[in-house]
Amino acid sequence: MLSGLNGRVVIVGAGHAGGTAATLLRQYGWTGAITLVGAEARPPYQRPPLSKGLMLGKVTPQELQLKPEGFYAERQIELRTGTCVTRVEREAQRVLLETGEALAYDHLILATGARLRPLPVPGIDLAGVVSLRTDVDALRLRAAVQPGTRVLVVGGGYIGLEAAASARTLGAEVCVLERENRLMARVASQELSAFVTGYARSKGVAIELSASVVGFDGEQGQVRSARLADGRSLPCDLALVGIGVLAEQALAQEAGLVCEDGVVVDEEALTSDPRISAIGDCTRRPVVLFERNARLESVHNAMEQAKQVAARLCGKPQPVAEAPWTWSDQFDLRLQIAGLTSPDDQVALRGDTAGNAFAIFHISPQGLLRAVEAVNAPMDFAFARMAIGKRLRTPGVRLSDPAIPLKDVAIA
Ligand code: FAD
Repeated sequence: MLSGLNGRVVIVGAGHAGGTAATLLRQYGWTGAITLVGAEARPPYQRPPLSKGLMLGKVTPQELQLKPEGFYAERQIELRTGTCVTRVEREAQRVLLETGEALAYDHLILATGARLRPLPVPGIDLAGVVSLRTDVDALRLRAAVQPGTRVLVVGGGYIGLEAAASARTLGAEVCVLERENRLMARVASQELSAFVTGYARSKGVAIELSASVVGFDGEQGQVRSARLADGRSLPCDLALVGIGVLAEQALAQEAGLVCEDGVVVDEEALTSDPRISAIGDCTRRPVVLFERNARLESVHNAMEQAKQVAARLCGKPQPVAEAPWTWSDQFDLRLQIAGLTSPDDQVALRGDTAGNAFAIFHISPQGLLRAVEAVNAPMDFAFARMAIGKRLRTPGVRLSDPAIPLKDVAIA
């Protein structure tokens, strides 16, 4: 185990989690060597704008960087971009790089993120069948989407819907294909799914539910249509496949760390090896407020776990457990979601779906506020996030009553 603040820390993955952990370690007083190794060509950057502002041309790739040029060097953080770690040797306490070099560590942090869930169908390799995870993907997509381009989005989750909204805003003809019988089935309530479906359709996005893609057809190597399980063929110039991600856990698994759809960590982001932590999208972690384990894919999760590991290594108090939260921008809707839902939750609506500003609250059978899905309702979201974190009880009837101010709704 480490003692003092001067061991060698190696961080694998220079994304939101890895970049934040390196920064916080220095901020909390770590004096030893910190090496941040990332496979991508660029220093750590924010992914959320890839499907939103970057695709719409409102922000530049440069503006997405987590930290300004020179930041890491100034803090003696050795940043090695464009470099893949190929192996973790736990006995020797070192990682091997694709260059053949080895980096020794006293503590290793895995922050390898997630990789795209593959869609194993014929035609997936045709030109024009694309995905969206990196800045390179987003810039390619933006260049390909022109007014009138026929874009098929395979997958009606947050990222697919954001990209669909951006493409539509750029003047494309957009159709979203979703295998389940509602949009965002894995992450949103029936009520929110229904609202978002209606809203996207009102903006001219075609939405096909219960629609499975079984292949793509092309001409001269370029995609021309998608084939559906029901026999239909839908023409397209571009097909964006966004059917979710899988934890990038190969290094951890090969090294014999416990993995269960994500590298398993404790509430301080420690893996089954006391010299190895894991943070961000690659982990399966305890969500303390909900007494369950989950794999969370969000900026908040990446930052919270980066804080946990930096605090633990630097001997600082652990951050207070917060409700998990995320957001999504689609057209002029800002969705903000906090907490985790359960099938036995009761649902209470506050606000006006017709006015596109409302919040759906989820309340447990014991009366605890467990989750919120807010649409253009930032105050409702802020209240709910706080109330979930404090485990406040909130009767649904009072939440739904616009005459009762939110500050008077909760019961401790
Ligand atoms: P990542 O950001 O994926 O970083 C992991 C890094 O590790 C990658 O750069 C990868 O190349 C590198 N790596 C992997 N293996 C190796 C290896 N062996 N050697 C070296 N490097 C390696 N979240 C929200 O909360 N709100 C949003 O609105 C939102 N929108 C999103 C929109 C898009 C288009 C995408 C793709 C994601 C969005 N997310 C959003 C999710 C959020 O970006 C992720 O949860 C967050 O980036 C996770 O950070 P991470 O560091 O764990 O993983």
